[in-house]
Amino acid sequence: MSYQANTTRYNDMTYNRCGKSGLVLPAVSLGLWQNFGFKDNYDTAVKIVTRAFDLGITHFDLANNYGPPPGSAEINFGRMHKSELADYRDEIIVSTKAGYTMWDGPYGDWGSKKYLVASLDQSLKRMGLEYVDIFYHHRYDPNTPMEETMAALDLIVRQGKALYIGLSNYGPEQMHEAMGILAQMGQKCLINQPKYSMFERTPERGLFETLGSNGIGCIPFSPLAQGLLTNKYLKGIPEDSRAAKSNGFLVPAQITEEKLDKIKKLNHLAESRNQTLAQMALAWVLRNPEVTTVLIGASSVLQLEDSLGCLQYKSFSTAELLQVDEILG
Ligand code: NDP
Repeated sequence: MSYQANTTRYNDMTYNRCGKSGLVLPAVSLGLWQNFGFKDNYDTAVKIVTRAFDLGITHFDLANNYGPPPGSAEINFGRMHKSELADYRDEIIVSTKAGYTMWDGPYGDWGSKKYLVASLDQSLKRMGLEYVDIFYHHRYDPNTPMEETMAALDLIVRQGKALYIGLSNYGPEQMHEAMGILAQMGQKCLINQPKYSMFERTPERGLFETLGSNGIGCIPFSPLAQGLLTNKYLKGIPEDSRAAKSNGFLVPAQITEEKLDKIKKLNHLAESRNQTLAQMALAWVLRNPEVTTVLIGASSVLQLEDSLGCLQYKSFSTAELLQVDEILG
């Protein structure tokens, strides 16, 4: 084994309790949606993951379809887990998901028991793991009875293939329905994974309250709006940025003059707080008491280190929060 984890890795990270569960998660978690597939540089991917672990990030988030191509992020994570992290398995929280299109035919998508059970088996094989810590249903399925999806999650936990249940992209009403069904089975949802950032504030309208009052944790994704809430697009679109890639997740048309104007103003505010914009945007997400951990992405070790600086200056004055609201309009 070539990698030896930093012995001081737990000194500077904050760990927050996940809802009313026994599990704590680092205030910053790392997601492997982009930058960790076969199309990306494997050595860089290993450096980002091991540096994250050295800095106290114990939670790595995956899904069946992460890549590109789909599945390749799990294969790469499995490879680096085997070569670098296997000795640390009990210090790491691995999550994966199923809910979006993964394979051809009617059984490779949405929320049937057939799909969820088969998908997790495939994920475990790709990662070379015996179990994942958290298994998510990735998105609400309006055409499958919620009872069936929750029964699949219950089965998976009872089989020991996942320790905890997560739900992603479920709104407050869907959470209420899911919580009721899970309770009848003696299960509980550990955590909800919504999209939340300065540019996407929907969870403030009911979801946070639902999670907080029911003791469920929250791990917002794309907290930097895929990189928009950093200083990287202030002078055009850099060649190596997500917006310059052809995968269509962040397209140049989304970087409007109106957005850029807000980003510039937010950047000034961040400077006045002696933070980078990325650090301020992450601290702003973490200001919500319902948020357990903020789920970042990174294409380099430098970005990861910069983003982690959000933990240095987390609080906001009332005047600063008002200023953010005014800028966002
Ligand atoms: P972010 O909003 O954190 O965006 C990450 C991107 O922003 C990086 O790839 C990089 O882009 C840029 N960036 C990151 N840090 C910095 C920095 N300090 N300075 C400048 N630029 C920076 O999150 P993601 O959109 O990547 O999502 C994070 C995770 O959330 C995913 O990996 C996944 O685990 C999860 N997710 C879940 C979804 C769901 O439906 N449940 C959907 C989407 C994501 P660049 O490549 O341009 O350098």
